[in-house]
Amino acid sequence: MLQRIISTMVVVFLFLFPFSNISGAEENNQRPFYQMEITYHPQKDQVQGKMNVTIPVTSADGLKELYFHLYPNVFQEWKYGEEAKPSKPGKIEVSQVKVDGKSVQKSVKDTIMKVPLPSAKSKGELVRAEMDFTLDLPRGGTRLNTFQKTAFLAQWYPMLAVKDKEGWHIDPYTTTGDPFYTQMSDFEVVFHVPKGYQVITTAKDEPSASDQPIRLKQTKVRDFAAVITQDYQVKRGEADHVRVNLWYVKGMEPVVDELHQAAKSGMTFFNEKFGRYPYEEIDIVLGETGYGIAGMEYPGLITSIPMIQTDQGERAAVNVVVHELAHQWWYGVVGNNQVKEPWLDEGLTTFSEFYYMHKQMNEDERDLLKKAAKRTDEIYQEVGVTSAEPLYKYPDSVYGLMVYIRPAAMMYDLIEKIGEEKVVEILRSYYDTYKFKIATTQDFIEIANKVADQDLSSFFAKWLHFK
Ligand SMILES: [Zn+2]
Repeated sequence: MLQRIISTMVVVFLFLFPFSNISGAEENNQRPFYQMEITYHPQKDQVQGKMNVTIPVTSADGLKELYFHLYPNVFQEWKYGEEAKPSKPGKIEVSQVKVDGKSVQKSVKDTIMKVPLPSAKSKGELVRAEMDFTLDLPRGGTRLNTFQKTAFLAQWYPMLAVKDKEGWHIDPYTTTGDPFYTQMSDFEVVFHVPKGYQVITTAKDEPSASDQPIRLKQTKVRDFAAVITQDYQVKRGEADHVRVNLWYVKGMEPVVDELHQAAKSGMTFFNEKFGRYPYEEIDIVLGETGYGIAGMEYPGLITSIPMIQTDQGERAAVNVVVHELAHQWWYGVVGNNQVKEPWLDEGLTTFSEFYYMHKQMNEDERDLLKKAAKRTDEIYQEVGVTSAEPLYKYPDSVYGLMVYIRPAAMMYDLIEKIGEEKVVEILRSYYDTYKFKIATTQDFIEIANKVADQDLSSFFAKWLHFK
């Protein structure tokens, strides 16, 4: 994600921060495989779904239950700030839950659903969960939203929680940052939408033929986002054999060419610097996706506001598009626990954004990063948070500076220390090593040490932990 406040940081920083194609899914035995049949009812702001998930048991201690995130329930009784409160609430209701063909009693608490297994499963076995769901879309929701003739489906289906050596990750929602952590999965989704609606998704999208269901497939992604719309038009293009589609609505025409160009050149730039984007398509959907959010990343689909405010007035939101695009590398392909270590994807993404703006757009913000880094030293003294904390530790007012900006400044300092080529090589090696996996801060530091051929632990400890 990019906060609105950070997207325009160049202008406001000093004033506003007084602190401030792969193998077929059928053969996959390592990843969850979601099959969904989705019907959209625009008159009711409702989505009905049937979902089967086949889950390989990968943990040594087996499985006794499953946990799913039901994020839309956060919009039922909004517990956070008034400014982001939906004008119409939303929720998701799950029914007919079966595991391996047997009905089971699920239990739901806020955004977490527990599904017991009829019998425990061991490593190497498969579990098949089936369920129906009804999603009532909020109006004015954050990320998950509907307006005019468009539905933004984000974190919208029952999403399997991650179980790793730390156990189940069933962290609650929060409005700070992106409180989502999911694993690589395969998807097969069939959409039934009324005539005239298009479906823009994580998968390589197909033009809607009238009255025909739209069948989409995507392997090796962490999430499956979709925009169902009658409002959007598209400008298509290609960069490095990746289809780059920019979606916009009436009134955004003046920025379409510039943002489409930025997305294409960003794709080429990051491919060259970090390693190839592994999918066939990226969709950039322009528009507001929630209070305070300038842009948001999903696999194969990003959102961005069309314009940002600068000291020279409004201009096309190139840096937001480029930021969300860079998340395809940091978050999308190389995953991390975004709740526990948000700096890892946001910091590397913010560095990638600044690096692109510096190299391709001639906007050198290194002095600003240095000033911002000094400011974070004061914040550490005043608030007591470092740059490597879980989401819940950060007051909103310091989150962007600590988690986005300071790590970006750190990467520039690393360039001064070991040279630009080495830093790019670290990122390449990190991408290559953790592609389609989950990486941690420690993994990143180990890669850096190896590539730089020196122990950088104290460098990272100073920047991330203020030690
Ligand atoms: Zn971000």
